[in-house]
Amino acid sequence: MEIRFMEERDIPSVAALEQACFSMPWSETSLKESMESGHTIFLVAEEQGEIAGYMGLYAVLDEGDVTNVAVDSPYRRRGIGRALLQYMIELARGRGIRVIHLEVRISNEPAKALYAQLGFQNIGLRKNFYDRPKEDACLMQLAVTPNPVCNCCGREIHAESPQSEEYLAVEKQWGYFSKGKDGLRQRFCLCEDCYDRMTAGFLHPVLEEETTEW
Ligand SMILES: [Zn+2]
Repeated sequence: MEIRFMEERDIPSVAALEQACFSMPWSETSLKESMESGHTIFLVAEEQGEIAGYMGLYAVLDEGDVTNVAVDSPYRRRGIGRALLQYMIELARGRGIRVIHLEVRISNEPAKALYAQLGFQNIGLRKNFYDRPKEDACLMQLAVTPNPVCNCCGREIHAESPQSEEYLAVEKQWGYFSKGKDGLRQRFCLCEDCYDRMTAGFLHPVLEEETTEW
C-alpha cells in the first residue's frame, strides 16, 4: 500500500468511493473544487493501482478539520484508515497545525475506537448533525504536539515518538549542591548528527559497547 497526495486523475475513483461509503457523498465537482481551493489536504491509499481509501483535512492556520475518511469495503480491517490518519497527523504536525477536529456518527463504534487509539478525545455532541439517517455527531479533538527542535542546530526533529532513538532528549534536575542552579530543571534535545559531532569532540572517548538489546 502506498499513501500519497490525491491528484486530479484520482477524483473519479475517489468520488466512486464516496458514493459507496456515504449516504450523502461528495461529488466529483465538490472534490475538485476543494482540491483547487488549496485549503484541503487530500491523501489517497493506493493498493496495486486501485484507490483503496482516501481522506481529507481542511486546514486553516493552526487548525485542521477532517472532512472525510473512507476505505473501500474489500480493503477494510487492514489498517488503511489508521495509516491514512497517521500520515495526515504527521503532515499536519510538520505544517504547524496544533489541533485537529472531527465529527463521527455516534453509532460508528469502530471509527470512534480508531480515533481514540490515535489520541483523539471526545469533546461533545452535535445534535442531528447527520442526515440519512438522522443522527448525532460525536465531536473529537486531537492536540498535535509540535516536533522537538534540536537545541544545538535548531533543526526540527522528525521522530515517530518521544521515545524514538533518532535523537537524545535530556531532562536534568539540578540539586541542592549545584552551582547556582538549585532546584532548576533543564530540558534539551540533540539530533543524532549533533550528538555524534559533540561526542566525537570529547577528550575522553565515549565508552562504547556492542549490544543486541533492542
Ligand atoms: Zn542538531
